[in-house]
Amino acid sequence: MPDLIYDNHGRPITYLRLAVTDRCNLRCFYCMPAEGIRYLPKQELLSYEEMLRLVRLMAGMGISKVRITGGEPFVRKDLMYFLKQLKQIQGIEAVNITTNGVLTTPYIPELKALGISSVNLSLDTFNRERFLEITRRDEFEKVKACFEQLMAHQIPTKINAVVMEEKNTEDIIPLAELGREHPVSVRFIEEMPFNGEGSHYPVLVWTHRKILERLQAHYPGLKKVQDAPHATAHSYQVPGFKGDVGIIAAFSRTFCGSCNRIRLTAQGTLKTCLYDDGVLDLRNLLRSGASDESLAQALKAAYMQRAKDGFEAEQKRKFHHPASESMSTIGG
Ligand code: SAM
Ligand code: SF4
Repeated sequence: MPDLIYDNHGRPITYLRLAVTDRCNLRCFYCMPAEGIRYLPKQELLSYEEMLRLVRLMAGMGISKVRITGGEPFVRKDLMYFLKQLKQIQGIEAVNITTNGVLTTPYIPELKALGISSVNLSLDTFNRERFLEITRRDEFEKVKACFEQLMAHQIPTKINAVVMEEKNTEDIIPLAELGREHPVSVRFIEEMPFNGEGSHYPVLVWTHRKILERLQAHYPGLKKVQDAPHATAHSYQVPGFKGDVGIIAAFSRTFCGSCNRIRLTAQGTLKTCLYDDGVLDLRNLLRSGASDESLAQALKAAYMQRAKDGFEAEQKRKFHHPASESMSTIGG
């Protein structure tokens, strides 16, 4: 096991979230504008080989868990080839995927065989009309089928649902109910300002407190359970449920004190906080012939300048303030 590397606030860095593309087959309104999206030209994306080199290097620096995200990961060609290579990297103990589920179902047996640790399925409603309204695409049936197949293959699954005023608050209980019969974690996420619309910055109505109140009102026996170390979700158990429910205070940023994660955007920019605007251009370093040693030094230097929390990171942004880019370029 390599020695862990700690940031300037004493937090170990052990978890990489890797966006393999900025492209997506849905247009969730809280993530992307309906039209006028300029995708990155292919040569501006990191190649799989470049990503694998960076993950190998990071694995030698204490990263043991990788989450594949995007854009929609399954939109990128040959994703399964990449996942297989990733699984072989020494030191990487867990590979997880976040997906919208539209293209995922045919790959589920392979994901199972490969030993993918868990799948986060993004699903904000179990109602076809509201799904269309939120994602601007009529793909609910495919996502539902994906959920059913994940359950049938016993792949550890979490549902991610962004809670939005006047959009899906009536879905909170029906989504939580999935845990009654299925061993699934249903996590409700505060909406963040990353919709790619520039100036828009939502006033948050559905805070983590309000989501909890809704759950408590419906499930009076709701019990707090121990959260895993570094977890972003506060987890709760409904008596008699096979699964659990969680709340992620992504906008209120209650979890920064134990944050162990870094992000790599599809164009190879390192983010040491979801709310910063990129702290290191790794693609440029890679393509200008940097050695592993100098890459490692640049990473360590970035870790030592990490903002203590998402509020400080947002304050320090060089480009757009407040944060407003599309989540599809960050990966969530
Ligand atoms: N396309 C994949 C998906 O939707 O699962 C992976 C990428 S998506 C950007 C990752 C996660 O970010 C999804 O669960 C999505 O709901 C969440 N997300 C996107 N925009 C968000 C926002 N403005 N606020 C909160 N969560 C957001
Ligand atoms: Fe696509 Fe995921 Fe963003 Fe929805 S949240 S538009 S599925 S990247």
